[in-house]
Amino acid sequence: LQSMGGVPVAVPTHCPYCSLQCGIELSPASDQDRGRIPLRLASQTDFPTNRGGLCAKGWTAAELLADPERLLTPLVRSEAGNRRSPLRPATWEEALGYVADRILTLQAESGRDSIGCFGGGGLTNEKAYAFGKFARVALRTSAIDYNGRFCMSSAASAGNKAFGIDRGLPFPLTDLAGADLVVLVGSNPADTMPPAMQHLDPAKFVVIDPRRTATAANAALHLAPRPGTDLALANGLLHLAIREDLVDLEYIRTRTSGFEAVRARVASAWPDRVESITGVATADLRSLIHQLARAGSAIVLTARGAEQHRNGTDTAQAWINLALALGLPGRPFSGYGTITGQGNGQGGREHGQKADQLPGYRRLDDPAARAHVAGVWGIDPDELPQPGLSAFEMLDRIGRPGGVRALLVLASNIVVSAPDANRIADRLAALDLLVVSDIFLSETAALADVVLPTTQWAEEEGTMTNLEGRVLRRRQAIEPPGQARSDLRILADLATALGRGRYFSADPRTMYDELRRASAGGIADYAGITWERIEAEQGVFWPCPTLAHPGTPRLFTDGFPTPDGRARFIPVDHRPPAENPDRDFPYVLTTGRTSTQYQSGSQTRRIGALDGAGPVAQLHRDLARSNGIAQDDMVRLRTRRGSATFRAVLDDSIRPDTVFVPFHYGGASTANALTDPALDPSSRMPAFKACAVAVERAGGP
Ligand code: SF4
Repeated sequence: LQSMGGVPVAVPTHCPYCSLQCGIELSPASDQDRGRIPLRLASQTDFPTNRGGLCAKGWTAAELLADPERLLTPLVRSEAGNRRSPLRPATWEEALGYVADRILTLQAESGRDSIGCFGGGGLTNEKAYAFGKFARVALRTSAIDYNGRFCMSSAASAGNKAFGIDRGLPFPLTDLAGADLVVLVGSNPADTMPPAMQHLDPAKFVVIDPRRTATAANAALHLAPRPGTDLALANGLLHLAIREDLVDLEYIRTRTSGFEAVRARVASAWPDRVESITGVATADLRSLIHQLARAGSAIVLTARGAEQHRNGTDTAQAWINLALALGLPGRPFSGYGTITGQGNGQGGREHGQKADQLPGYRRLDDPAARAHVAGVWGIDPDELPQPGLSAFEMLDRIGRPGGVRALLVLASNIVVSAPDANRIADRLAALDLLVVSDIFLSETAALADVVLPTTQWAEEEGTMTNLEGRVLRRRQAIEPPGQARSDLRILADLATALGRGRYFSADPRTMYDELRRASAGGIADYAGITWERIEAEQGVFWPCPTLAHPGTPRLFTDGFPTPDGRARFIPVDHRPPAENPDRDFPYVLTTGRTSTQYQSGSQTRRIGALDGAGPVAQLHRDLARSNGIAQDDMVRLRTRRGSATFRAVLDDSIRPDTVFVPFHYGGASTANALTDPALDPSSRMPAFKACAVAVERAGGP
């Protein structure tokens, strides 16, 4: 903390968790608190996304900084190569030397692609950029992807196809308050990002979700389709809009292409057919489409509930088709958007840690993109690898011909967050080398050969890009504990040990300014966004190609970044989930977040005030009764992939054919031990949100 006249100055920064990136301030803790929490955390009242609001996770985030289980030194196995032997402390020199030696040996034996990298949507922009570069320049491997593949990839794929760009919200979040109607599809901000609710007028928003969530309970209208049928619902709404002359033909004619093919495709989305697929009554469909058409301005937002399916890209596309037909994108207080989940879910997918991308949201298979980025990096474009496998495919190939033999994991707890988690744990066990950088000994770190203690949010400088595409500064307020080091330094030191150190810097500002050059001219253009501008302007929205450019809070006002300037309709059809209920597995399982936990829970599960309900399964009372289950009983859920146990919570706010579990827990309550890894053909997103499940009582409370 800096001081002015001996008085410490509060450091403005942002919450370490979700994509809302609420503004906070850090100052020294009171004498009374200092032993337990080193910093006092207050909200920034003038930051636009939260305006002083924080959720329970944000209010308690400073506790992470003083957690007694924080990793303070590198750890290696007592017997090198034997993961059954205990982890023991090591020096950085020993740990990184061992990792570098193993990488060089494995690459000599099995080629460059034998080393894989797995990143995360919580990494700062600089780290995400450095990790992508590390894979392509230091390791020269094609094997890199990240956990955002399990999060945002379907909406990103649909946005790129339809609009030629993927930015979660193409307008500031505060525009929600100006819309006459907001439709939330598979999104529950009242639990996942409560401060966002202040931008929603309860009389003016509609929720589509199989559960009556905290958000749905406050909505003007709630529709509860079967999980995995949101596409059919959107097509049914578009069918009605066309049939009842509610579409905006002038907008369609002047600003879009491909409408006729979509019109023909949704001609068969008859309301009674849609009702039988989705379970949503035709009267509700009709009510919603008339509300949308009547609204002077309207916003359609999808989130993971609609997107994490094997047809997630097509589902997002169906909602985009509806928004385009109603003439919404690019109009004031109107449009389509997707609500990013992870803290840097947006920036994390722009700077090159995706299997098929280079910085600036460039395509790795585009010769011009390769030439530009190689020029910034000072290498020959031919040195750049080609696109590699997506996250699940890379993990699933371990131990098989052509699979990676070593994996370097940053900011991800794979064995809790990957689908079919038991299978993935088996695959990780087949690695010759697993290296995990983390702040705590997560379930994945506990399996590693080498664990590297890294810095966390308030201990480092950098930038994050929130759900609006607004680039923000993350500031350091405290020194890291023990021997913890920034991932930037870890990557730079490892690159040096591999003989490629001259391409890397441990300094975040240096890496950020290089990122700006690498992104220049790309879709996500940061060239004009300096750290000084971010601080002076409460963040800057990309694209921002020059220092004189004001940034772009609102996209599509003058057209779309497609070759002809038009948004593209793309015809899509409903397909049932890969697994449907049958005699052996008679219900639908869906997963999601709760108000007190974040992602795999490796951070939030440590904070006492965030205990919440713990690992519970939400069951409809009718379902529970027919299976002999009472409130607080332990229940075992079984799918074709595994089983997990939860405490039963009974209510009437979920469909009687559906079971909900949170994905924040490991061990016996790992929700992803149950989930289906069937992949979306375009985004390679697994089908987290719908699979067939059996439910049985496993014991009393
Ligand atoms: Fe942090 Fe998200 Fe909560 Fe805001 S809403 S305090 S960013 S977790």
